[in-house]
Amino acid sequence: MLNLLKCYKPSFPLCSSTSICASKALIFTQTHKIFTKNLQKSTTRTYCGVSGNGERKGESSKLKELWLYNTMSKRKELFKPKVEGQVGMYVCGVTAYDFSHIGHARVYVSVDVLFRYLRVLGYEVNYVRNFTDVDDKIISRANQLGEDPIGLSKRFCEEFHQDMEDLHCLPPSVEPRVSDHISHIIDMIKQILDNGCAYKTDADVYFAVDKFPHYGRLSGRKIGDNRAGERVAIDTRKKNPADFALWKSAKEGEPFWESPWGPGRPGWHIECSAMSAAYLGYSFDIHGGGMDLIFPHHENEIAQNCAACDKSDISYWIHNGFVTIDSEKMSKSLGNFFTIRQVIDLYHPLALRHFLIGTHYRSPINYSDLQLESASERIFYIYQTLHDCEDFVSQNNVTSMGNIPPQTIDCINNFEDILFTAMSDDLHTPDVLAALSDPLKTANDLLHTKQGKKALLRRESLGALEKTMRNALTILGLMPTGYTEALQQLKEKALKRAKLTKEEVLSKIAERNTSRKNKEYEKSDAIRKELAAAGIALMDSPEGTKWRPAIPSGLQEQLAATT
Ligand SMILES: [Zn+2]
Repeated sequence: MLNLLKCYKPSFPLCSSTSICASKALIFTQTHKIFTKNLQKSTTRTYCGVSGNGERKGESSKLKELWLYNTMSKRKELFKPKVEGQVGMYVCGVTAYDFSHIGHARVYVSVDVLFRYLRVLGYEVNYVRNFTDVDDKIISRANQLGEDPIGLSKRFCEEFHQDMEDLHCLPPSVEPRVSDHISHIIDMIKQILDNGCAYKTDADVYFAVDKFPHYGRLSGRKIGDNRAGERVAIDTRKKNPADFALWKSAKEGEPFWESPWGPGRPGWHIECSAMSAAYLGYSFDIHGGGMDLIFPHHENEIAQNCAACDKSDISYWIHNGFVTIDSEKMSKSLGNFFTIRQVIDLYHPLALRHFLIGTHYRSPINYSDLQLESASERIFYIYQTLHDCEDFVSQNNVTSMGNIPPQTIDCINNFEDILFTAMSDDLHTPDVLAALSDPLKTANDLLHTKQGKKALLRRESLGALEKTMRNALTILGLMPTGYTEALQQLKEKALKRAKLTKEEVLSKIAERNTSRKNKEYEKSDAIRKELAAAGIALMDSPEGTKWRPAIPSGLQEQLAATT
């Protein structure tokens, strides 16, 4: 069969309708722009350029070869792009009919970490992430709301963009939508039919899985094990129950497009094959998504790609683990999910991001208030330390970086070694977050030391430590616009969770101060405990009492019991 195949080529000059022509022009412009920039791998890298008089390792020696776990080979592989210096990456996007949940957040944050790190390594990345705007779920929701399906999905695409911005996920290079690519999809289905790997039943077209000998290679399933995919209704007209729809005939009240097989709309799987081929060709580097997409979606994509083009070759299949709640997978269909909006109403979006990358992307992650509180407290500590470093450096009027003491140089070198080793080993972000403790502690020791007469050395060290940690946070996507602003936002979220206003906290602090003056220690202690239970910690100093967010005392006890 494979010998008979010819490669389907995205046919940019051929237009079947004016609206499609417009989208093709867009594709051409964007693709052209992406591939003519030709970033030079080693010359543009500006990572961590802190100078000093100690043994600073060159940054190029720290950047390691990247190893990624490939679902296809079931092992970690050295990453080698097909074209030197360039990476083509396709990631399955959302079906836009509702707000996205934190399972989605995990997918796109994981991919964003990979996207950022590939760029740190000097690659030019063409990152394509689609929107499914034609789907049964969209049609059914639109019918419920009496809304146009494409209009409804447009609305939720915009909401998704807001979520991604809040979570610091960089925008992809291109975000194609199914409704703009119907002609590519039709062309690809024609090619698959021409190559004898699909069949027509009335006005539907199905892919014949038994025509593709490698079906099941990605997921490890055999054709006999397969059921119809969860998004594909069982159809008695199928020759094999595992066959799946490439084209579905129009039903009353549904959006449709004209096709050689009559009016209808594409099946779900074909859209990603057609759109990835349109922007990246059939041979590209990385295809990613959530683990739930391995079967049937990605298995079917491979079958379609190979049926349309015998040169089809995607090098690395990357999948992230589930978000679970009480060890059950979080998903809309199971009804046990939190939307990103619900979570970031109470927690800072970067606390959510810290929580998500606090576990390796392939492991399951269990969502709980305790985890989010813990992440919030941690990033408050990180930003507070970096804020204090920045403050100290600016107050001490640093004009140049030099003479960094050897202890600081060692601390920075050790941290950067862990950073690049961990990131290059299949993106082990939890190791990087854990390794931050050392430079954070060094910075706090320098900030709060009493023996700090040598302000020059301190400010140089603090400046270098702050820059090193800032660069690491940027790679992880955890760097806020400004530390002061982020600290303020974290405090506001903590007040919201505590159901208190800033004024109420200040008035309780004043009440406590009065009690202490009057030696009513039981009363003053009760106020401190009451605030601690609500997640507000008080810190006494000669300058007065300040407050900061903390894990509520009840949850802290839970944390102590589990660790
Ligand atoms: Zn997909």
